[in-house]
Amino acid sequence: MPAIEEIATFCKRKGFVYPSSEIYGGLSGFWDFGPLGAELKGNLKREFWKTFVHQRDDIVGIDGSIVSHPGIWKASGHVDSFVDVLVDCKKCGSRYRADHLLEDTLKMHTEGMTPEKMGETLRARNIRCQKCKSELGEPRRFNLMFTTNVGPIQDSSSLSYLRPETAQLIFANFKNVFETTRVKLPFGIAQMGKAFRNEISPRDFLFRMREFEQMEIEYFIHPQDKGCPWVDSVAGTELLVYSEGMQKSGEKEKKMSIRHALDGVIIRNSWHAYWLASMFNWFVSLGANPEKFRIRQHLREELSHYSSDTWDLEYNFPFGWKELAGVADRGDFDLRQHEKFSKQDLSVFDETSKSKVVPHVVCEPSLGVERAFLVFLFDSYVFDEKRENIVLRLHPKLSPVKAGVFPLVNKDGLPEKAREIYSELKQDYNIFYDQGGSIGRRYARQDEIGTPICITVDYDTLSDGSVTVRDRDTTEQKRVKISELPSLLSRALKGERIF
Ligand code: ATP
Repeated sequence: MPAIEEIATFCKRKGFVYPSSEIYGGLSGFWDFGPLGAELKGNLKREFWKTFVHQRDDIVGIDGSIVSHPGIWKASGHVDSFVDVLVDCKKCGSRYRADHLLEDTLKMHTEGMTPEKMGETLRARNIRCQKCKSELGEPRRFNLMFTTNVGPIQDSSSLSYLRPETAQLIFANFKNVFETTRVKLPFGIAQMGKAFRNEISPRDFLFRMREFEQMEIEYFIHPQDKGCPWVDSVAGTELLVYSEGMQKSGEKEKKMSIRHALDGVIIRNSWHAYWLASMFNWFVSLGANPEKFRIRQHLREELSHYSSDTWDLEYNFPFGWKELAGVADRGDFDLRQHEKFSKQDLSVFDETSKSKVVPHVVCEPSLGVERAFLVFLFDSYVFDEKRENIVLRLHPKLSPVKAGVFPLVNKDGLPEKAREIYSELKQDYNIFYDQGGSIGRRYARQDEIGTPICITVDYDTLSDGSVTVRDRDTTEQKRVKISELPSLLSRALKGERIF
């Protein structure tokens, strides 16, 4: 697997991702998506929405505001407890997340540790500044929310926050959605959009950013719900499972089916099993490598204040197993908190039980867009020894450019014919026209950015109306009639084999 630095360099070179504000020296934790990155990110988000909103009849979507009433963040617990522990160097001022420093230098778990205990451990084990080797100060809590002021008066009365997650906007709008759509329990509300966290030490390219995007679903059930009715549809899904018990007894993760994990009470809740498998299957359906995923249960000491059980979908990055998505059981914590702070009744009438209930959130699949973006890059990026260039084997649904169109030579009416085909296909897809350099060079350029097919116009095109179509993955080439191109492209983009 390439190192994260290699992926970052590649992304910059090809126009996927640039360091934000680069001409001013950059701004740590912020990244800008270039032309290809914007396409890839857009495709990824569209696929998520298609799978989890459009193709289901139990989930609807919203798009909430980034700045909201500060009461939302008081009720959710973010104002009081959305903190990391910060420690700085007494000499050079370098700042570290104390838990990361302990995990990286001593390979220890820090879940549930207080700042005082972290300070004691850092001193006892003589952990010093990683840059200048000087003594570290006392660890202290640091709230990760970015603040802002709403309106012209800049004092505490106008203080608000940039949302650190999209989830709370779903809870705040829960009753609106229930009353204005025809959803019935169980149902979900999905949202995609920006979230902001003033991370102490952003790192690993897009993995830990200060401005990023989330794709989240809050799934609401009746408090006496009996379990997920669709769990059988994912029962055969096999993946690596790493339960709390396995972690505490020092075992490794084990490959098993969802059915086995449920029967063995390794995963207690069928809704959790269903959503974890659904997220995993979504990644795999878009070309991710199933062997690099595992689901890991949070240790009791690691659970957030609102959660009674959480599992993360993790991916084996070059810098270790890391969280891609969290799936937490939040119970009725959020709706009850918002009832308390807003003094509004958030219960709804459930037609099946003919009673008013405050639903429970049994699952909150919450996935970072940029972390998914990295997964698809890692799993598609290969150096092809024969071709001597990178081939980005992205699933065609994700490819930023869907086809390249080239004239074989730049004369005798071939560019005009190629442009004609290009303009026609461009009505429906993002297509690239290229007449620069040798054909081999043009193929290589498209291979590198993941374009699934290339179409070349030559002299025969003018007489018989056919073109050469080349497949990115096999480099196989076939003659195809121009009139067949739209249906061929549509099949290729679904991931079907075209020859
Ligand atoms: P971590 O432990 O890695 O900080 P978290 O547990 O705080 O993550 P959640 O609050 O569960 O993360 O957020 C849901 C998802 O949002 C994460 O699984 C991740 O994909 C994404 N995410 C969270 N923080 C960041 C960040 N700083 N940069 C990029 N993505 C993030």
